[in-house]
Amino acid sequence: MKILIIGCGGVAQVAIKKCCQADDVFTEIMIASRTKSKCDAVAAEMKNKTKAEITTARVDADNPEEVEALIKTFKPAAVLNLALPYQDLAVMEACLRTKTHYIDTANYECENTDDPVWRKNYEKRVKEKGFTAYFDYSYQWDYFEKFKKAGICALLGTGFDPGVTQVFSAYAQKHYFDTIETIDILDCNGGDHGYPFATNFNPEINLREVSANGSFWENGKWIETKPLEIKREYCFDGVGKKDMYLLHHEEIESLAKNIKGVKRIRFFMTFGQSYIQHMNCLKNVGMLSTTPVKFEGKEIVPIQFLKALLPDPASLGARTKGKTNIGCIFTGIKDGKKKSLYIYNVCDHQECYKEVGSQAISYTTGVPAMIGAMLVGKGIWQKAGVYNCEEFDPDPYMEALNKYGLPWQIEENPVLVD
Ligand code: NDP
Repeated sequence: MKILIIGCGGVAQVAIKKCCQADDVFTEIMIASRTKSKCDAVAAEMKNKTKAEITTARVDADNPEEVEALIKTFKPAAVLNLALPYQDLAVMEACLRTKTHYIDTANYECENTDDPVWRKNYEKRVKEKGFTAYFDYSYQWDYFEKFKKAGICALLGTGFDPGVTQVFSAYAQKHYFDTIETIDILDCNGGDHGYPFATNFNPEINLREVSANGSFWENGKWIETKPLEIKREYCFDGVGKKDMYLLHHEEIESLAKNIKGVKRIRFFMTFGQSYIQHMNCLKNVGMLSTTPVKFEGKEIVPIQFLKALLPDPASLGARTKGKTNIGCIFTGIKDGKKKSLYIYNVCDHQECYKEVGSQAISYTTGVPAMIGAMLVGKGIWQKAGVYNCEEFDPDPYMEALNKYGLPWQIEENPVLVD
């Protein structure tokens, strides 16, 4: 299978290395990103470590014509988009024009939320959706008919969360429940990188997500909260006790649509006090803004300037110690009886670093990205249209998680989150 991977940041570097490990499937890999030297460095690192043939290119993925031209030259079976959510629609458009399968790990976000055309459309969508997040699936779901007509598959959000959390949901639905009533997605990072403040994936996307209103889905509607308003404590296997906060998260939207009968879906992420204090301070002084400001005659975007100052997430691997624990607590009914389960993965930052030179957040996203691309490429997960991970048979994906470094566990009757 020939694959075109777009982006060469923290997540992409793991996905590329995992594709190189699975060189019985991925025979030719093209890495294309904004900064070609990063692609060349990864290609050089993997030389003689894989049978896969690697080529590199420069591409501006905001420009569908450039991506289209690259696809026409390389002729991949699928494009794995690991640039930023801003590029999703441009890359989908290029895939549509060339009839090539599309895979990503995060749903579309508009880079400049002050753009008047986008804002008008956003305000209309807020009324229809019931939550105010700057990202939602509607932009990509709108491509369903076009992808179906073209006979190609778009697999959205195959990272860990979104991604594996939806595969866990489909697996619980298939094997353990007649009806799932509640899903609590828990994302715990017990790792310590030793810096006073750094983000584990792209700072711009991470800080926009965490500083926004939270929300959850209950009895058929969305309930919004103020940023980090709902806090709980949970004791995680492999990590211990952590504070976690309710966030809005994209997979809630697709799970609410696809898991029939579910009454409540929430998403919690752990943060330490230092992270929250730094983030609030940066927000209060305007450093999280995406609106350009004039500084000494030049236009700068505050959050992009902040990104330049913060440690590159791809560089945290060597320093990060500890484990992640990410999974879903399900409650529901099986054979007329109440039942609860926690399906989760524990991942060790240092083990990830030993294997691929990255910390566990990039690892837990890059591995599922490779698995999603593999299942689409092999035709095992391939339907014409635009789909989320819970809309396919979870079994081959669950098997692949065990095989490629993210083994999962099931705890019966876990402690529930109130
Ligand atoms: P990084 O910022 O480390 O990497 C992004 C890469 O995309 C960089 O190589 C960057 O190029 C490239 N890029 C940005 N803009 C363009 C463009 N216009 N054209 C071509 N290339 C471009 O991000 P991460 O690796 O941390 O995250 C990658 C994706 O994974 C994001 O969409 C993120 O939201 C998602 N994610 C998903 C998770 C999940 O569980 N589902 C969890 C974590 C992340 P350059 O090197 O020049 O900056």
